[in-house]
Amino acid sequence: MDILKAPVVAIAQAIIANKDYLTELDAAIGDGDHGINMARGFTAVAVKIADADVKDIGAVLKLVGMTLISTVGGASGPLYGTAFLRAAALGQSKITVDNVDISHMLEAAIKGIKDRGKAHEGEKTMLDALEPAYRAFKESATENKSLAQCLTQACVAAQEGLEFTKTIVATKGRASYLGERSLGHQDPGATSSYIMLCAFTEYCRSGG
Ligand code: ADP
Ligand code: MG
Repeated sequence: MDILKAPVVAIAQAIIANKDYLTELDAAIGDGDHGINMARGFTAVAVKIADADVKDIGAVLKLVGMTLISTVGGASGPLYGTAFLRAAALGQSKITVDNVDISHMLEAAIKGIKDRGKAHEGEKTMLDALEPAYRAFKESATENKSLAQCLTQACVAAQEGLEFTKTIVATKGRASYLGERSLGHQDPGATSSYIMLCAFTEYCRSGG
């Protein structure tokens, strides 16, 4: 079912297109592999999903999560993998999702990242894009906005979160070794989260 696969393909393309950018960001405060890691993972996702026989959203998200865990080196692989697997559990036997479902999936994904990585907002990680995005999504959803509108608001909040990461010191992950020297730099993982969210948003806005 291509309609189930298409959003994942859009996310994979966006990550692969931003491989060098993500790697540059990680070169500044980490070990310069985030773009390489993520592009490797999503290239594998794109290949696997093309041939997969997926019957619901849960199966699609599970494929993404398992593939990221097995192919992405670095901290981000198990973190994003766990996030997709937690969301997958809520997508079982669903072939469409509404705002409430997506809100719950985002919440579960974030909880997965926190359970796995023991970080919280303000530590200069992917959570600094995802948590504000989730709050904005949830708020828009309670105002009965369309899915595209809720996602657009989530992207705006995630972008603000990205900017915020430049102003804080990393206290989790490899960038924490730099201490104060991580100041002024944008977090690579927050950036990949933003890119994934925006790719999904664009997909939904274009009527997908
Ligand atoms: P590594 O740091 O092992 O090289 P990557 O470069 O692929 O892995 O990913 C780095 C990103 O992972 C960071 O920019 C940060 O956003 C995220 N990250 C690292 N540790 C954690 C954690 N404990 N919780 C949440 N995100 C984290
Ligand atoms: Mg790295």
